[in-house]
Amino acid sequence: MSDRRRIVLTKGAVSLSRLVFGAWRLLDGPVRPDAEAVARLIGTAVDLGLTSFDHADIYGNYEVEAAFGAGLARWKGKRDSIELISKCDIMLQTANRPDNRLKHYDTSAAHVVASVERSLTSLGTDYLDLLLLHRPDPLMNADETAAALAGLAKSGKVRAVGVSNFTPSQFDLLASRLPFPLVTNQIEMSVLKTTALTDGSLDHAQRLAYAPMIWSPLGGGSLFTGNGEREARVRAALAAVAAETGAGDLAVVAIAWLLRHPARLVPVLGTMKPERLAAMVKALDIGLDRQQWFAILEASEGRPVA
Ligand code: NAP
Repeated sequence: MSDRRRIVLTKGAVSLSRLVFGAWRLLDGPVRPDAEAVARLIGTAVDLGLTSFDHADIYGNYEVEAAFGAGLARWKGKRDSIELISKCDIMLQTANRPDNRLKHYDTSAAHVVASVERSLTSLGTDYLDLLLLHRPDPLMNADETAAALAGLAKSGKVRAVGVSNFTPSQFDLLASRLPFPLVTNQIEMSVLKTTALTDGSLDHAQRLAYAPMIWSPLGGGSLFTGNGEREARVRAALAAVAAETGAGDLAVVAIAWLLRHPARLVPVLGTMKPERLAAMVKALDIGLDRQQWFAILEASEGRPVA
């Protein structure tokens, strides 16, 4: 595997595959996959070079990690040839968590540690390659949360720590209390969601030299299903670039558009379809030139740049 297919999130930190497999929708299909089917999907992803798997405690109503863990137990590969990422702090209101009277966040030390322990048990592993705080918590006590994260890192249960959906200022606050760098901020971005270009998120990532992970890189599928004018315009621009570059597929160009950014974006792919995963790996070989990149931005924003 060439280096272009891997990425070190920040100097000296964990390395991930440049395209990450997102596990959020694992149980969303019409048929719940059994352990064999999950093991096959893991094998397909790894064969395509997607060795990093993005989880959260809450995915599938708190059930995805255990379903994935059952598949992992049957998969024939080695634990240290893949990277497992999980998240904590969102508290869903669901029958699976009867104590949660409403949706909220919890970055207390007790919750963070307990959530990681549950993720490890569900996934059937003794360490996470990367733990992310899932959402900024207005009640986060940075000293307490950082101490819990540092303790998890020291124990070896978590090899690296990052955040998700944090503003640069929230990132800096937590980072200021940790004895090691935060290695990523996982944020939403796509050809339909471009605010990270201008809200300071990507500037912050370049300044501190960490690679941001990108969720819903195809707009959660709305790129294909959306029937607004904007989606139609963006699809037309992607199709033109697909024809020019030989990418052959709108999704490939949409991912290549993210990969073109110098902040070293790491798209987390959400499809559960092996053929779509295989198609999107081609994005690693498509280099958009500046004018192709700007043509897609112009279509997304509905006007030329100033
Ligand atoms: P996405 O890749 O933008 O969307 C995936 C959806 O698009 C799937 O439902 C897929 O359906 C659909 N799709 C339709 N046509 C497609 C095509 N031609 N190629 C590929 N997909 C197509 O990503 P996402 O699922 O919204 O999010 C990706 C990952 O990000 C999640 O799995 C999760 O790990 C992470 N995430 C993180 C946060 C956070 O707050 N940190 C929030 C949301 C998600 P099929 O399965 O039928 O292909």
